[in-house]
Amino acid sequence: MSQRITALLEKHHHSKDELVELLSVQSDQEIALILDKALQKKASAVGRKVYLRGLIELSNICSKNCYYCGIRAGNKNVERYTLSDEEVLSCADFAWKQGFGSLVIQTGEQSGQAFADHIERLLNKIHEQTNSELTITLSCGEQPEEVYRRWKQAGADRYLLRIETTNKELYYKIHPNDKNHAWENRIESLENLRKTGFQVGTGVMIGLPGQTLEDLADDLIFFRSLDIDMVGMGPYIEHAETPLFANVHELWPAPERFRKGLLMIALLRLNMSLINIAASTALETLDPLGRQKGILAGANVVMPNLTPVSNRKNYQLYNNKPNLDKDASLSTVTLNQVISSIGETICFNQPGDSKHFLKRVADNQENFSAK
Ligand code: SF4
Repeated sequence: MSQRITALLEKHHHSKDELVELLSVQSDQEIALILDKALQKKASAVGRKVYLRGLIELSNICSKNCYYCGIRAGNKNVERYTLSDEEVLSCADFAWKQGFGSLVIQTGEQSGQAFADHIERLLNKIHEQTNSELTITLSCGEQPEEVYRRWKQAGADRYLLRIETTNKELYYKIHPNDKNHAWENRIESLENLRKTGFQVGTGVMIGLPGQTLEDLADDLIFFRSLDIDMVGMGPYIEHAETPLFANVHELWPAPERFRKGLLMIALLRLNMSLINIAASTALETLDPLGRQKGILAGANVVMPNLTPVSNRKNYQLYNNKPNLDKDASLSTVTLNQVISSIGETICFNQPGDSKHFLKRVADNQENFSAK
């Protein structure tokens, strides 16, 4: 069996059947073979480097009702907040002075003119305050193409919009089947983001109730077919105040969800060697060394949480989210030590653009000049 796995790992592109076969491995030895190969691929393609994205959870107000999410509109137990501009600028200042190179602004999904203006204003203010030395990723949900364009023009570089699962039937088991949560809107938004010129990121949950290895293989193939630039994915972790919690008995055991999370990162690195892959906090929730293990499986991005500590408890998409009470400055020092201890280097003061994106832009320019 290990010989078969070794042979499969020589390939740069795997078919769906091959991905399912690789995702099915159970022995520690075979899992280690896959993770080691992914680390080798990471080293040769993007280096043993880790890029930082300071995460600002701007607001937990959300108009949607995804069945898995702790801050869904229908959860009346959540105390809603929106950070002031001053608070956001203070987080951005911290990230800038600590040399993070990059920020992620994440919110629950809101819409309308006032929200579009709000994000645009923040982008302008952050760039003004930091000499445009921070690259900014937005994760603010589905928006009209026009709004994406405005935010791009105001200086957002990257956009993360997770598909959560590419199996449409499963998608409607974890989202209401209505206009506000339509699968087609999600796909259209991803296409619009690409058209607008963003580095586009997406991602999925791993180990959802009813999800199969075939579904996960399809997710990996979806990333490839969309030619995605970055991925943030992690194990599904239940939240007690959500409708999906009723299906908790169907879940794979947490260690299995964790292993599949690592395998998904490794297989993604093997198949899309130049993209950026985040080591999610969900990994850290299931295993205290989850972040390091994610990096050693092929991830190259971590997102230290800069949200003011007093607000973090109100931004729990799932239960037991880690670092709810850690001061960001303390986390940075610790993180640097932790990353060095596993033979990786944090790239301070660098934007950490997706090499996959930069290559596509260069290839397009070359093709254009050749015409
Ligand atoms: S997953 Fe996102 S869009 Fe869905 S309810 Fe949670 S914050 Fe809102």
